[in-house]
Amino acid sequence: MKFIDMHCDSLMQLFFQDKEKADLFSSAATSVDFKRMKEGDQLAQFFAVFLPPVEGYKMMGIEPVPDDVYIQALHDALMKNLEQYPETIALAKNAADIKANLAAGKMSAVLTMEDGRAVDGKMEKIKEFYDMGFRALSLTWNAHNCFGAPNSKDSVIMQEGLTDFGKEAIVYMQELGMLVDVSHLSDGGFYDVAKICKKPFVATHSNARALCPHQRNLTDDMIKILGNAGGATGINFGPEFLNEDITCKDSTAALMAKHARHIADVGGIDCVGIGSDFDGIMGNLEISDCSKLAVLESALVKEGFSGDEIEKIFYKNVLRVMEDAMK
Ligand SMILES: [Zn+2]
Repeated sequence: MKFIDMHCDSLMQLFFQDKEKADLFSSAATSVDFKRMKEGDQLAQFFAVFLPPVEGYKMMGIEPVPDDVYIQALHDALMKNLEQYPETIALAKNAADIKANLAAGKMSAVLTMEDGRAVDGKMEKIKEFYDMGFRALSLTWNAHNCFGAPNSKDSVIMQEGLTDFGKEAIVYMQELGMLVDVSHLSDGGFYDVAKICKKPFVATHSNARALCPHQRNLTDDMIKILGNAGGATGINFGPEFLNEDITCKDSTAALMAKHARHIADVGGIDCVGIGSDFDGIMGNLEISDCSKLAVLESALVKEGFSGDEIEKIFYKNVLRVMEDAMK
């Protein structure tokens, strides 16, 4: 079945591990590439430009580069790859593009950014990124930035809301047609987004906190609000976001289906999507790359979802949110 994946970190992996070649058609360095996307019958992949913390560069043995340089490099790497395989895949800036690409026999790539720190408190940077083709922005990663506070085990930080700039910026993002992504945001930030946003928003890669207590996951209250707002959350394949014991390293399709069931029960079937987090997660992954989503489809059947419901989870819900909030 066709599917849309709202989050992967494959561009970062490419940059860190395979920078010279940077071939996204068939890459040993990533869990997502065009060849396996096609094998998996993928409709669209959101390719995130994730801004690594300084420690991330150090871990990879790479000298940190300024965010703007890094963003341009990853943007260019994706565009170069899309130009090389024009029959296979093309950029999509909205739902209409995805449909047009599909009609032309092509898959779609959606460019997104993870961590609004590069916006640096300047509204014009948001427009600049929009003009480069970015169509979703995770407001924070795991540190404070100009938008607000991150998810945190510290309850004071977790309750912090958006900054004044963050509040203004999300209004502007929705006017432009850029998805507001609350994955990684503090709980306080989530509630500000829910209060301020006039259009649906997303959690591109977050699960249910009731089933897995990681502070990155959404509480039932948040899932209800997200569903009522017409938004969606993408089921994350990372073991630490799936298991009741967050130290467990096993990621199974059965666990993903349980999160999908819980989220559908709490927020409605229309708010469940997929956000694999491929190339940003580690562990024993039953679904280890983008060609294997049929395993999730079977697990969802076992969990009692109908064919129509699985279609919603696999791509229809995200396509609807894109129609409502992405231009
Ligand atoms: Zn993430």
